[in-house]
Amino acid sequence: MQSLMPDSNNNNAKASIDKWVTAEVRAMKAYQVPSSTGLIKLDAMETPYTLPDALKQEWLSALGGVSVNRYPDPDSTELKVLIRSCFSIPDECGLMLGNGSDELIQIIAMLVGGVSRTFLAPIPTFSMYQQISTATATQFAGIPLAADFSIQAENLFEAIEQFNPACIFFAYPNNPTGNCFDPTTIKQILNNAPGLVVVDEAYFAFCQKSFVNEIATHPNLIVLRTMSKSGLAGLRLGMMLGNPEWIEQMEKLRLPYNSNILSQVSAQFYLQHHDILQQQAEQIRKDRSWVFREMSKISGIEVFPSEANFLLFRVDRSADTVFNGLREKGVLIRNLHDPSSPLENCLRVTIGLEQENRVFIEALSSLKI
Ligand SMILES: *Cc1c(COP(=O)(O)O)cnc(C)c1O
Repeated sequence: MQSLMPDSNNNNAKASIDKWVTAEVRAMKAYQVPSSTGLIKLDAMETPYTLPDALKQEWLSALGGVSVNRYPDPDSTELKVLIRSCFSIPDECGLMLGNGSDELIQIIAMLVGGVSRTFLAPIPTFSMYQQISTATATQFAGIPLAADFSIQAENLFEAIEQFNPACIFFAYPNNPTGNCFDPTTIKQILNNAPGLVVVDEAYFAFCQKSFVNEIATHPNLIVLRTMSKSGLAGLRLGMMLGNPEWIEQMEKLRLPYNSNILSQVSAQFYLQHHDILQQQAEQIRKDRSWVFREMSKISGIEVFPSEANFLLFRVDRSADTVFNGLREKGVLIRNLHDPSSPLENCLRVTIGLEQENRVFIEALSSLKI
């Protein structure tokens, strides 16, 4: 009898992949996370701090009471109440939680993206906007930032005319450049955009500027927040704020149990101690100023002002050499070098513990750029 799967060698897989997977997705690369074993990890905008020991014990006993045999509360009811009070979210805003804000971007793309739709964003910016556009067959139009990483309003308005974008993304402050775009320009775009405007406030803890108060008067505005950059990257907890009618549409595309019970209980515990997370963010802001000043003293380095928990800098030689030199000295940062972009010879360092920042500065100085 003939087997239904005569042979499953690579050639056959390739043939069927070529047949069924779009050329755009075939050309994509999966998100790469380099190994950080044994290195000081300053590459991913994580917080270096954990809970004080006494609280850690309390947290573990809270987790001990969790029923993992049961499905979690699909609406994260208690957690949402706490989030609303911790972040002073106005009652008239809708709130939806995601498995990280990455998932929320994906839900936006499923709702308003797709074939013959376009998403727009100033570039360089957070890579997921383009990645998720491609994954959902949505066209992505990247509008280059000016040399000082500000938005070029006229180009953006022209692109809006040209592409009629279903959604425009602004990371505020922007990753990887660290600056906040001009809020007046963003408001003008909010008033004129044909579709949604997403203001992604992933770094809110370090900059405190927000568009949340514009939601009441702008039904096309979606604000994203995340707990990832302020202490809880491992939990995967993102928040979407917006007009309740829009959030209602988004909710239809959210998988029912996207926020697992350990994350819900942990996030509740941490948010009951929100003051600790805020103090940690405050410390990171201070340390950011110190690292900025120290980097500015090193010749051959141009460091850009930042309102986030990282600093972007350009070196006057090969970024690859600097990246590898730092890694040899035990420090992992992010190499953003791309000869065809404004990030030529640029790197990004996340603010870590005081001691880690010191090691980074010493290592960078010793490379004699
Ligand atoms: C890190 C980052 C995110 C992703 O956050 P998660 O909640 O961890 O998925 C979203 N937007 C921007 C701009 C980021 O830098």
